[in-house]
Amino acid sequence: FFLVIDGIDGCGKTTQCKLLKEYLNNIGLNILLTKEPGGTKTGTILRNILISTDYDIEPNTELLLYSADRLEHQKKIIIPGLNSGKTIICDRFISSTYAYQIFARGLEKSFLQYLEQHTVFKWPDLTIIIDLPVEIALERALKRLKDQNCENSEGKFEKNGIDFYKKVREGFLWYSKNYKNVKVINGDRDIDSLFKEIKSIVNEKLCL
Ligand code: C5P
Ligand code: MG
Repeated sequence: FFLVIDGIDGCGKTTQCKLLKEYLNNIGLNILLTKEPGGTKTGTILRNILISTDYDIEPNTELLLYSADRLEHQKKIIIPGLNSGKTIICDRFISSTYAYQIFARGLEKSFLQYLEQHTVFKWPDLTIIIDLPVEIALERALKRLKDQNCENSEGKFEKNGIDFYKKVREGFLWYSKNYKNVKVINGDRDIDSLFKEIKSIVNEKLCL
């Protein structure tokens, strides 16, 4: 099984991915937790370029780098993992690329629709999109950067601005209506109650 958890910065993806991994491990599944961008050796380099504010890259270059990251990730990690019987949990997937690059940056949808034919060989069996108001998500994301004393781009949120993230949210909702096996859940609540819902969706999907 190939499970994806996606959503805007600060929605709680990474926390929920870890909880889900622990839960599914405990019931005996062989879990591989991975992420985009940066799930492979090459992807780690691409991720560093993508999340750094040191590079001023063309929007379509950004789209191509996310797609390159995904191609590597599919070929080197996801498909081999599935073939060896693992259940994959992936923190972000192409839903993020539609949300950030197509909806928020305003790039041509048909370009990504072309690229996906050459980069996505295995589609998720389930994508859970954690949805919540942008103001709350960004507040959480900024707080986390502060707590972690993260050098990583507080400036990025300001540079992109709130309207950018509103379009990101809209993009995720668009994706949920236009792609298969997508479930949107409300992320504006505490970690435990969010996880309870995720667990019940995954249980149903995996027939547990
Ligand atoms: O999910 P994670 O926090 O690891 O993502 C790294 C950064 O890359 C985030 O700040 C996110 O906003 C950005 N990103 C993006 N476009 C994507 C995926 C992630 O701008 N398609
Ligand atoms: Mg995260």
